[in-house]
Amino acid sequence: MDPLVEKQEEIAQMTIFYHLEWYLFGDDPDICLEKLRQSTASQLCGKVFKGGETTYSCRDCAIDPTCVLCMDCFQNSIHKNHRYKMHTSTGGGFCDCGDTEAWKAGPLCTNHEPATAGATKENSDCHLNEEQMVQARKVFHSVIKYIVDMTIWEEEKDLLPELMTSREKTDNFYCVLFNDEHHSYDHVIYSLQRALGLELGEAQLHTTAIDKEGRRAVKSGLYAACQEAKEEIKRHSENVSQRPLHVEVLHADVMSHQKFALRLGSWLNKLMSYSCDLRQIFCQMCLKEETGSEKPCPISMLMLWDAKLYKGARKILHELIFSSFFLEMEYKKMFAMEFVKKEYISDDHERSVSVTALSVQMFTVPTLARHLIEEQNVIAVITETLLEVLPEYLDKNEKFNFQGYSQEKLKRVYAVICDLKYVLISKPTVWTQRLRVQFLEGFRSFLRILTCMQGMEEIKRQIGQHIEVDPDWEAAIAIQMQLKNILLMFQEWCACDEELLLTAYKECHTCIMRCSTSSYSWDKTIHLCGHTLESRPYRVSADPVSIHLPLSRTLACLHVRSSKTGAMSRLQEFISSEEFQVELLVEYPLRCLVLVAQVAAEMWRRNGLSLISQVFYYQDVKCREEMYDKDIIMLQIGASLMDPNCFLLLILQRYELLDAFKKIMPTRNQDLIKQCNTLVEEMLQVLIYVVGERYVPGVSYVTKDDITMREIIHLLCIEPMAHSAIAKSLPENENNETGMEKVIHKVATFKKPGVSGHGVYELKDECMKEFNMFFYHYTKTQHSKAEHTQKKRRKQENRDEGNRLEWGSKQVFWRTPNNVYKMKLICWLEGSVVALYLVCSPTTADALLKYYCFHIFKVLHILSLGLLEEKQQLEKAPEEEVTFDFYHKASRMGSSALNAVNILMLLEKLKGIPQLESQKDTINWILQMFDTVKRLREKTSLSTVATASGSEAKKDVGMQSTQDKEKAERKRKAEAARLHRQKIMAQMSALQRNFIETNKLLYENTQEMQGKEDSIMEEESTPLAIDYSKIALGPKKGLCVTEKEVLTCILCQEEQEVRLESAAMVLSTCVQKSTALTQNRAKTLELSGDKLDPLFMEPDLSCGTHTGSCGHVMHAACWQKYFEAIQLNSRQRLHVEQIFDLENGEYLCPLCKSLCNTVIPVIPLQSQKINREDAEAVAQFLSLGRWMQIVMGRISGYHMKNFKEKQNTPALVGNGTGDSSSEFHSILSFGVQPSAKYSNTIKEMLVLFATTIYRVGLKVAPNEADPRIPLMTWNTCAFTIQCIENLLDDERKPLFGSLQNRQHSGLKALVQFAAAQRTTSPQSLIRKHLVRLLAVLLPNLRVEDTPSLLDVDMFHVLVGAVLSFPSLYWEDTVDLQPSSISSAYNHLYLFHLITMAHITQIILTSTTECSPDQVQDDSEEAHAADSFCKEVYQYTSGCFSRDVPGWYLWDCVKRGITPYLRCAALFFYYLLRVSPPEDLQLGKLTRRVTFILTCCFFLLNNTILLWCKQAVLCWVSISQRYRKRNNLIVLPEDYSSLLNQASQFRCPRSSDDEPKNPVLCLFCGSMLCSENTCCQELVNGEELGACNSHALYCGAGVCMFLKIRDCRVILIEGKTRGCFYPAPYLDEYGETDPGLKRGNPLHLSHERYRKLHLLWQQHCIIEEIARSQETNQIFFGFNWQLL
Ligand SMILES: [Zn+2]
Ligand SMILES: [Zn+2]
Ligand SMILES: [Zn+2]
Ligand SMILES: [Zn+2]
Ligand SMILES: [Zn+2]
Ligand SMILES: [Zn+2]
Ligand SMILES: [Zn+2]
Repeated sequence: MDPLVEKQEEIAQMTIFYHLEWYLFGDDPDICLEKLRQSTASQLCGKVFKGGETTYSCRDCAIDPTCVLCMDCFQNSIHKNHRYKMHTSTGGGFCDCGDTEAWKAGPLCTNHEPATAGATKENSDCHLNEEQMVQARKVFHSVIKYIVDMTIWEEEKDLLPELMTSREKTDNFYCVLFNDEHHSYDHVIYSLQRALGLELGEAQLHTTAIDKEGRRAVKSGLYAACQEAKEEIKRHSENVSQRPLHVEVLHADVMSHQKFALRLGSWLNKLMSYSCDLRQIFCQMCLKEETGSEKPCPISMLMLWDAKLYKGARKILHELIFSSFFLEMEYKKMFAMEFVKKEYISDDHERSVSVTALSVQMFTVPTLARHLIEEQNVIAVITETLLEVLPEYLDKNEKFNFQGYSQEKLKRVYAVICDLKYVLISKPTVWTQRLRVQFLEGFRSFLRILTCMQGMEEIKRQIGQHIEVDPDWEAAIAIQMQLKNILLMFQEWCACDEELLLTAYKECHTCIMRCSTSSYSWDKTIHLCGHTLESRPYRVSADPVSIHLPLSRTLACLHVRSSKTGAMSRLQEFISSEEFQVELLVEYPLRCLVLVAQVAAEMWRRNGLSLISQVFYYQDVKCREEMYDKDIIMLQIGASLMDPNCFLLLILQRYELLDAFKKIMPTRNQDLIKQCNTLVEEMLQVLIYVVGERYVPGVSYVTKDDITMREIIHLLCIEPMAHSAIAKSLPENENNETGMEKVIHKVATFKKPGVSGHGVYELKDECMKEFNMFFYHYTKTQHSKAEHTQKKRRKQENRDEGNRLEWGSKQVFWRTPNNVYKMKLICWLEGSVVALYLVCSPTTADALLKYYCFHIFKVLHILSLGLLEEKQQLEKAPEEEVTFDFYHKASRMGSSALNAVNILMLLEKLKGIPQLESQKDTINWILQMFDTVKRLREKTSLSTVATASGSEAKKDVGMQSTQDKEKAERKRKAEAARLHRQKIMAQMSALQRNFIETNKLLYENTQEMQGKEDSIMEEESTPLAIDYSKIALGPKKGLCVTEKEVLTCILCQEEQEVRLESAAMVLSTCVQKSTALTQNRAKTLELSGDKLDPLFMEPDLSCGTHTGSCGHVMHAACWQKYFEAIQLNSRQRLHVEQIFDLENGEYLCPLCKSLCNTVIPVIPLQSQKINREDAEAVAQFLSLGRWMQIVMGRISGYHMKNFKEKQNTPALVGNGTGDSSSEFHSILSFGVQPSAKYSNTIKEMLVLFATTIYRVGLKVAPNEADPRIPLMTWNTCAFTIQCIENLLDDERKPLFGSLQNRQHSGLKALVQFAAAQRTTSPQSLIRKHLVRLLAVLLPNLRVEDTPSLLDVDMFHVLVGAVLSFPSLYWEDTVDLQPSSISSAYNHLYLFHLITMAHITQIILTSTTECSPDQVQDDSEEAHAADSFCKEVYQYTSGCFSRDVPGWYLWDCVKRGITPYLRCAALFFYYLLRVSPPEDLQLGKLTRRVTFILTCCFFLLNNTILLWCKQAVLCWVSISQRYRKRNNLIVLPEDYSSLLNQASQFRCPRSSDDEPKNPVLCLFCGSMLCSENTCCQELVNGEELGACNSHALYCGAGVCMFLKIRDCRVILIEGKTRGCFYPAPYLDEYGETDPGLKRGNPLHLSHERYRKLHLLWQQHCIIEEIARSQETNQIFFGFNWQLL
């Protein structure tokens, strides 16, 4: 807190509140409050949520989803183990713990559960005494009055004289600017700058404060000056947006009083938490109206004024309401009553800080909601308010029209609709008379809203011209979506009892009739096949039509519900039969369906996208329940109540197909034919739905679960789906539940996800038979997809496809249809209009025949539905009871023509049409069905049903034989097709082989690597190793594998052999800084390498340079051309943002598109043969000691030479090195050879790559002449090997043979490059570096700035020394390098020396804690280690403790040396390419170590002595000098504990309670405050967000974070690049939940976390980012820099 504010606060507490409290309690307030605190604990938690806080709801126990718990309560509740949901609060709500009405079970957490012992005590002494109560009343009364007076303040009001600071009116005023929802930040800043001449910074400061607090004094001074400022601000703000800002001029005294009033509010808030007595007294005082005053009670006054208050004040007042009224049930009720009276005030503020948001706290309490309905008629109040808010959208016909609506205004409408939902959410169990009356009252006013919606926003088909502007449609659809569940809930409420249902039915019917009385008359008579229909002359294609018909749809639902309960029979009592006009009821829904058909037929093309969207939503899952589904039901009602012929005629007429059926349709115009056919198809489809879709409670005996199950089955028939995808395709109820969890396991099995992707549900086999291909919720694509999938599946399982008709119809009769519609549905077929269609179509033009074939299947389907229905009824009941007589009616055509052709004959005729060949089976099946039904009818009239089915079976056999013949023919055709396919496949694979042949290299490398077995090599001569060919070092070195390398350039596809003298080949490569191996996260990295000396890598490997390659080869020339082409390209398209940074040499690999920033040249290996005899001879006298002497001699010789030129060369101590000058040339005597000559392009590439490593690794400008270039080359070589070794160990893979191809070729090239790089630098420079490196090992070499042995990483020294060693052979005049034999010895002895040094490091730094339970091994090695240790103890003059047993030391050495030895093995393998032996076990490796321990010890004891002495000097801060494996931080299993952690997170830089975005660094575990200005940092003149600046230090620019509130991983790289990545947390359905949108409980997936770990360790983060940015171009807009 600001110290000034703190001081003021202290003064206020001392001078005012302390005394007030004394007055209140009549005693020391501290003592009283403490007593109260101990005695009463509220049983309600009541914690008020801040924005961004996580809330929990239980799907099993919460009454509705608005019942939430705070983190603490949730963690201590039983719901922790239930199916809970997590959400992020928008602020303003409060914890429902303790509210018994909010939870079905476990309303209390353990924290708020009254302790059983304390419960009795509670009533004894916690209460206030009488006297205190009286005092409290007095105090609260005046405090409340003061608060009300001060907060409800109008600008011109004068302060009461007694409240003024001085007698005379002072002239100090403030000009106060208020926040509003119309002006943006920039507007306000602009206006302030202009009006008051403020600096930008100051204006920003004011604006931020205004946004946070709601108001701010922007100027103080005399009244006139303030008034002037006010006018200026208003004027300027009016210029930038339509409205002026709200500014007031307030007297300074008023301001202070207002401020104090709020402080009093917070004080009251504090007191409220102590005692229920205080709360109750407070509430009483708030509700008390002043006697003899017109004014409402104080709390009402505050509510009414709420909208005019500024944010800061509202926050405090709302908190006060939460802590007082809402914690006392009785007063909550009273408050609610006042609230309902006052709620519907216009308020355009953010809802989270508006008093209107309190509604959810009251309306969702079931008893309170009921009470409010009974006493205040809250439903009516809310709906009336809706009508009050919306009148400006009413057109002349009293219908809504939302053209040019305002988003802001509608938000308020949605909020009111939400309130309605809250009130209705819990259905009453007991109905009182009063409740019934009031509910109906509410329903009536709700119908008034629906009336305004019925037929709103009519559209008319556009002919000739396109519409110019798409009309607004979103608002109407959005309101429809919002109303969907409310409509459903109203229907549920109505269905609670018969009386209510029928009254509601009547009300609804009346409203529809009122809407439908239009000027149209019944004057048109239509004829077809002898039937006539009187109808209105309406045409969808010409007259206005609307898709909004909430009244009709409500009625449809009420109708079905009353059918279900049987109330239908009493309908006549409510609506007379004259009044009930079914045709009229069907009319509007039918028009709507026709509109959909016409849109599909592209008749409404000119009406633009708006219509398409509306039609989409009409059938979409978000709306269909209260739109499309209900329209189908209404048609079903019509079909059941109307004369079937009339019904069909009506449908034909509305589809405008009468002419087509009368064969007077024009057949010339192709477009019209097409259009007509789409219409026919759509109509047939709807007819199928009308007949077949009976999965509605009330129509069939189905439950909600059955319906959900059927929806799921049909979704899964398309393809296996993820949980969330299924949930999205199912309608949600008012509690946002789909009900799928309850049933899904009955129809589907869950398949777990792999490392990527998500878990899916697969349909159970036994559920496949439920598939109905004419499922009415399928879209066209879903329909064909599902049919395709099912066909495929049947084929795979070798099942007969069966009759496709049966797929569609079997399930219709799955449940006995309820007799709702008296099942007249199918009878309309007696009109035989469909049959007519059968007749007429084949005779029309050929063009039509094509479409006709297309439809015939649907027609046949309808026929089959009729037959199946009849068959089923006949099988169940004796014939005379079956009124459903499809068979007879279908076998006669048209009522007038008794002898006309019947359907049977028609079908026979159809069989003869060649185009219908494919339908033949189906037609046969139908004929068979006819026969079956006929027999059933005949048999039942003669004998029993049983025999009938017997003969049916016999009949079937007869049919079988003809079918068999056809089947055989089909099989033959299928076989022919299969053979043909096979031939094609053979051709394909030949092509493929060809391809492999031409691109051989890519494949060969892979195979070669796979072929190699687990193997490793021997580093040196040893009595154990006999196989000389496998030895890499020393005189017994084996032959190296020098395969001829031929590579193919991926750009020009030409092959080339890699040779020294030919043009260079390169690999695309990415160099990056890395902290993947760091042993010390706490270390601060140097951001720029300007002054860095990279010669020695510190043993903590805090930051290295990694070189990775995708392994793709190009000619250097081809690559240069390619790169130049990209550069040219980008220059031409100036404004297109590139993913890669060309300036820094970045490009995407032309083949695999991974991000690269340079190329490595491929250098051929120089084969080196050793003459074994010579080698033996040399071995005689070149011992390690001798070798060291010679090297020293050579070095000192150089110094002598240089001494003449320079004075400041390092001094050499001639200690046992003999006469240095005589030794100077002796090194050459062991053999030299001329250096290799590289081609120019290879040299060029060597320089280029080395410079890139230097530039990237040190973050400096490129400089080809910098002396550090060779150092960086050796470093990246060593570091990359270490990374790879680390990774292999991490993945538990063998050292050799298991590298990925790209790693292998990358490493091969890198090591060879590192060996060759030396030749491009001056040899004297290399030698200088070498001397400094050796100075660490050879203490006799005194070089300035040589670090202690303990301060260097030995592997880096090894690589550097081996690679630079040849420079010792260089002579001024000739360019020489060591011969094979020399090299062999050099490598061997360098290795011995450095390994020994490393062992010394390990022993010196080994910890002394050894646990005694470890196996004590008394091996030779242990003895060696022990004796070594003793020596060391002596050398260090006792500094080094030796109380450690030998076996323990040995253990340390073993563990410590292993990574080093493995790295060395890799290094020498890639340097010398001696093929490694098959098995190199850890045991052998360590035996080698023992060898070194014992053999070298005596040779080197002098050196070791010096090492130790040196080490003692820097004994401080010693940690273990060997590597630990790095891992990403440990994450908790349960995601909610991370959220918990995040909720406790406080920004380190700011103290306000604004919501923060905590992110977790997965490398080091730091929690950061991201995307917030408070934590931005200025780095090198750039503003960086917290993540970015952290990444610079933690990951050298590359980092991985977990955004906790979002449950998303963020990968970032180098300030400007980043991407999102799924978090490693999965819900029980195997899905991630980015943004916590679904809110299911999440648990850590170790597999996925491991994948992230590998991404890091493989240095693929940059690659991942580049790939993600390439695919999701949208993230360009994201400002990663400020993350
Ligand atoms: Zn709580
Ligand atoms: Zn609680
Ligand atoms: Zn629960
Ligand atoms: Zn090429
Ligand atoms: Zn590539
Ligand atoms: Zn970190
Ligand atoms: Zn911060």
